[in-house]
Amino acid sequence: MALVREQDGKRLHVESALMGESLVSKEFIEQLDIAPQERLYPDIAIVKIGGQSICDRGVKALPGILKEIVRNRKDHKILITTGGGTRSRHIYTIGLEMGMPTGVIAKFGSMISEQNALMVATLLSPWGGVKISHSDIVKLPTFFAESIIPVMHGMPPYDYFAIKPKVGRIPIHRTDVGLVILADLIGSKNILFIKDENGLYTDDPKKNPNATFVPEIGAQDLLNMDQDDLVIERPCLEIIQNSEVIEKVQIVNGMVEGNITRALNGEHVGTYIYKQ
Ligand code: ADP
Ligand code: MG
Repeated sequence: MALVREQDGKRLHVESALMGESLVSKEFIEQLDIAPQERLYPDIAIVKIGGQSICDRGVKALPGILKEIVRNRKDHKILITTGGGTRSRHIYTIGLEMGMPTGVIAKFGSMISEQNALMVATLLSPWGGVKISHSDIVKLPTFFAESIIPVMHGMPPYDYFAIKPKVGRIPIHRTDVGLVILADLIGSKNILFIKDENGLYTDDPKKNPNATFVPEIGAQDLLNMDQDDLVIERPCLEIIQNSEVIEKVQIVNGMVEGNITRALNGEHVGTYIYKQ
């Protein structure tokens, strides 16, 4: 490949579309011609088991949900991720009180969601449950070839590099965001959040009995509504909107037996949040 010297004779470049660009120019990025994104593993369903909504209910929720996942493993390739839940909130409270920066709070969150991944993988081990690391993502086809149910902790690995939000120091990219980023990475067609409510409402149904159910909504419309509280972390909406491969995510009440099976089979259960 030929090297090109700049006209002032100083720098040497390798000829390419990005040669000499800062990669910051909005105009340049908008007009750059790129190939459509490959879907790495479109047939893998990715399923987040909620931390606060499911794992924290322990024996009252987890065994039923895991049994339902096991019943589906012959028909579906299922990658499980886990949230943190109440123990994350506890350590966040103490960390914030003690002046910890966002990166340390995010690291706490990763450690707690990893505890739940270890528990879920251990419970699933008789049926091939294996706890995997983020770096194992490229090995997913091998895991499914061996009938493994991979379980990964859901916190995206920003850890100490988590960006401080506008207000406060609670990282905004937590385990719901982890699932959506993962979905974009692998190009999954089936993205399920297993929680303890039927889906999205106009307000938190645990606090407002007048909140009404929303069966489906576009991510951009939901962003525009600027609801005070949501059933998934707010940055998920922008990630869905910007994705080239995500069509929709589905929020399912895992406390109702059969919901996960129906959702895996492509039925509309709970709320669809789709890319507009
Ligand atoms: P997870 O543990 O799965 O991350 P969270 O407890 O963080 O779940 O979030 C789910 C909870 O969000 C629901 O149980 C519900 O109480 C609450 N929530 C807040 N706003 C809404 C809303 N607009 N619609 C539905 N649920 C909401
Ligand atoms: Mg949550």
